[in-house]
Amino acid sequence: MLGPPAWAAVAELARAPAQTCVLTDFDGTLAPIVGDPADANALPGALDVLHRLARRFGTVAVVSGRPAAFLVPRLALGEGRSPLRAYGSYGAERAGPDGHVTAPERAAHEAEAIEAAARELEAGLPAGVEVERKRWSVALHWRNAPAERERAEHLATATAGRHGLSPRPARMAVELVLPAAPDKGSAVASLAAGARAACFLGDDSGDLPAFAALDELHDRTAAYTSRIAVASDESPPDLLRAADVVLDGPATALAFLAAIADRAAAR
Ligand SMILES: [Mg+2]
Repeated sequence: MLGPPAWAAVAELARAPAQTCVLTDFDGTLAPIVGDPADANALPGALDVLHRLARRFGTVAVVSGRPAAFLVPRLALGEGRSPLRAYGSYGAERAGPDGHVTAPERAAHEAEAIEAAARELEAGLPAGVEVERKRWSVALHWRNAPAERERAEHLATATAGRHGLSPRPARMAVELVLPAAPDKGSAVASLAAGARAACFLGDDSGDLPAFAALDELHDRTAAYTSRIAVASDESPPDLLRAADVVLDGPATALAFLAAIADRAAAR
């Protein structure tokens, strides 16, 4: 299931667990993509592997575009299992191992821009396309109406422009985000700072800034870094090009993480 590049990464990442940072995206990486984003859950066994890694490794965290409060129960944070942490909303929100979420205050005009954009999207929505309100963005999903992609993209771009939001592409979706909203790069840079080895697993365009943050860490400190794409038939070509290792879907991503945990335990 894992090819030679994946095994080489496993060996490097398991070499010095206490100084190693294991970071991963959630949707499409640990959790199979489902029709209704609210139903997404990590694969069976994924939480055991994540918490096992977090008990042994320097830093283990999930960095996702989802709100941190969405991630807390889905990662079993706050149950005393391990120091596993989560960064939500691309790093704007944090959930600690105790499940407590911290998020900066949203300015009134930011909340208004998100809400006004969400209402405008809803008013012009092609059938089957869905609006997902988030704290720092509003997402438009056409997974259940793929034929409406062009109309949905056009609607999203026009709406973003009217409300000062930036369109950010995602799998069968586009997210309209506040101009000051972070990307995953700053979360990864701060989580991996000082690590001797670090990896990030992701499946989508929103994971490219995380890959770039690992590159920057490697260039600055010579830390071993591994950018891991979790592939699907929707993979953005840029992500596959930027990756050191390509894994075939969430089941293989889980096998990869389990291999790191097993290798570290065998040392
Ligand atoms: Mg993802």
